[in-house]
Amino acid sequence: MSRKRPRACLKSALLFVIATGLSVAFAQPGSTPPATIVVFAPHPDDEVIGCAGIIMQALARGARVKVVAITSGDGFPGAAAGVAHKALDQVGPDDFFALSRFRQIQSRTALGILGGKADDLIVLGYPDGDLGNLYESSDDKVIRQQFTRKNETYASIQKDYHTSVHGKPAAYQRSSVLGDLVELLTSLQPTEIYVTDGTDGHIDHRAAFWFVRDAAKQVGYKGGFYTYLVHGLPAWPFPSGVTPNLPFESRKVGGEVAPRGLPWPPPRRVPLSRDQAQRKLESIRAHNVPVVGMPEHQSEMESFVKAEEVFWTPLATPR
Ligand SMILES: [Zn+2]
Repeated sequence: MSRKRPRACLKSALLFVIATGLSVAFAQPGSTPPATIVVFAPHPDDEVIGCAGIIMQALARGARVKVVAITSGDGFPGAAAGVAHKALDQVGPDDFFALSRFRQIQSRTALGILGGKADDLIVLGYPDGDLGNLYESSDDKVIRQQFTRKNETYASIQKDYHTSVHGKPAAYQRSSVLGDLVELLTSLQPTEIYVTDGTDGHIDHRAAFWFVRDAAKQVGYKGGFYTYLVHGLPAWPFPSGVTPNLPFESRKVGGEVAPRGLPWPPPRRVPLSRDQAQRKLESIRAHNVPVVGMPEHQSEMESFVKAEEVFWTPLATPR
């Protein structure tokens, strides 16, 4: 066996040289590199709620896809209580760490359902619930998250982005978030960016938009910039429930048109096949968390299973 190995190695090496030579010979000079889609998720689950279809369609046509979870998903007391099987007032830091781990595993599973790989998930590891405080901090002060008591980035299954690149975590401060995002946009060179919309009802979702918008401006980003809505105000999405044959609709709630602050129809509507809508449902179900005090949580997420995904373009120049 061992005697045969050198010959096998030589054969492999020859094949490699031939294959490399062929690929060089057939490479088109000036051919465009494959598209790179980057989906920014404030929390582990937003990426599938808003962009499962975009992710699976991009992967199916050979594009590179990276999902960037900006927070660790460690600031949701109802979910921490549900995962720990405790009452809401009994949860402590370890339960929030457990929730973070749980949600990151779920993001990996969901990405697999959509055709992606675990290392397509990048976790920045900033504090869930504090992105707005970080963005609005005028003196760049370091924030300590109230639930975990952490004041620097971390991730549970893999290294957080800053540790993986710089060998140490980043402090929870405004400049760190912006710095990591600028670095990522520079290294990944995305052709399309997706992030939650600046009108979203959740402060982390609005702050994710502000941070990614600022980072994109800083690097002179010129690709597609799309936003998706998760917590549309005053109550959206509509119609509710798993409705894979129906489009999203706007509606009137208390005399006000939902979703608030956004044009309707949305400027970009991406159709999903029946099979894609089914896989989107499976990816959302991979994020099932027992949430204490919010029995409707899962069905609200599943209401994003429609015959399409919808996006806005807030940075586009008005015509
Ligand atoms: Zn979220």
